[in-house]
Amino acid sequence: MLKMPLYLAVLRPGGAKYWGTVRFPEEERKTMPLSDDQLADITAARENAQPTLRAVAPGMEQHLYTAQPVLDHGFVRVIDYMGDDSAIVQAARVSYGAGTKHVQSDEGLIRYLMRHWHSTPFEMCEIKLHVKLPVFVARQWIRHRTANVNEYSARYSILDREFYIPAPEQLAAQSTVNNQGRGEVLQGEEAARVLELLKTDAGRAYDHYQSMLSQDGQQGLARELARMNLPANIYTQWYWKTDLHNLFHFLRLRADSHAQYEIRVYAEAIAEMVKDWVPAAYGAFEDYRMGGVQLSGKGVEVLKRRLAGEAVTQESSGMSKGEWREFVEVFG
Ligand SMILES: Cc1cc2nc3c(=O)[nH]c(=O)nc-3n(C[C@H](O)[C@H](O)[C@H](O)COP(=O)(O)OP(=O)(O)OC[C@H]3O[C@@H](n4cnc5c(N)ncnc54)[C@H](O)[C@@H]3O)c2cc1C
Repeated sequence: MLKMPLYLAVLRPGGAKYWGTVRFPEEERKTMPLSDDQLADITAARENAQPTLRAVAPGMEQHLYTAQPVLDHGFVRVIDYMGDDSAIVQAARVSYGAGTKHVQSDEGLIRYLMRHWHSTPFEMCEIKLHVKLPVFVARQWIRHRTANVNEYSARYSILDREFYIPAPEQLAAQSTVNNQGRGEVLQGEEAARVLELLKTDAGRAYDHYQSMLSQDGQQGLARELARMNLPANIYTQWYWKTDLHNLFHFLRLRADSHAQYEIRVYAEAIAEMVKDWVPAAYGAFEDYRMGGVQLSGKGVEVLKRRLAGEAVTQESSGMSKGEWREFVEVFG
């Protein structure tokens, strides 16, 4: 246990933003998702500022190394980044050369690139994150293959006794209309029963994990085997590096309302960082990808017919019921 005072710049959920160095009282520090060693590393890294000739994004410098708490024990923090809005513009100007001269501003060029799916200039920016997340969230996240990952090894190290237990407002029943979603929040005795099951099952599994490992000076079961007894809500950690184009793709899918809450909150935390890192690119992404919709050929035809005054129905649209429902959700 470190005895040194611990300092950290952090964003606290539902609370005020603290930029700069903040001292955490002992009580508050107990609820932080970072270990004492990690907090000390962050302090040391933030105190070790280096002059650089590289492009620096002031908005991102504030986030560098600091931890954004997510869920009950998780976090996301920026370990490193490369490039800024001007790196995107610079790369585009190499590929377009004199052809970009008519473009009014850097922001206009970035919007043009986003609008026309000219994606490679966005790949010139990179980000490396340290993420602590429940294993079942990691299984969704790892499906995004266009990233580089290093995960905490439960073959070498013993996992901490930390489990994701949903907050009461997230403890919802299976949705009756969406097979992949949640319905009403559980109440009263049922909510208490489920919470108790989640906690006791996780605790018992961890107790058995510990007892299998190595006890009373005896050689226990190998860590790589003992871990198979642990539940999917235990926390893992990884370094995750990707480029801005693929990060936008990840955010488009995972910061979306259809994504599961537990991964969405990570995506939303990352989106806030990206907004500060590359404000022009993020603005274009928000407008064209998050805020925009993709129309099929049939969708365009239906819109034209409607604008001409025709009352189009699902049957006369040529769309399936699902397509029609999604179309009406957007256009009424
Ligand atoms: C709401 C939601 C529900 C989902 N439900 C399920 C589910 O029920 N079951 C399930 O298995 N998955 C599910 N997924 C995962 C989903 O199918 C994708 O695997 C995941 O979103 C990663 O997307 P991606 O492949 O586009 O991303 P990445 O792997 O990051 O790839 C980015 C892009 O790179 C290209 N690319 C990458 N690798 C290849 C390759 N080998 N070959 C060709 N092109 C490649 C593709 O264009 C791809 O779109 C779900 C995802 C979401 C968001």
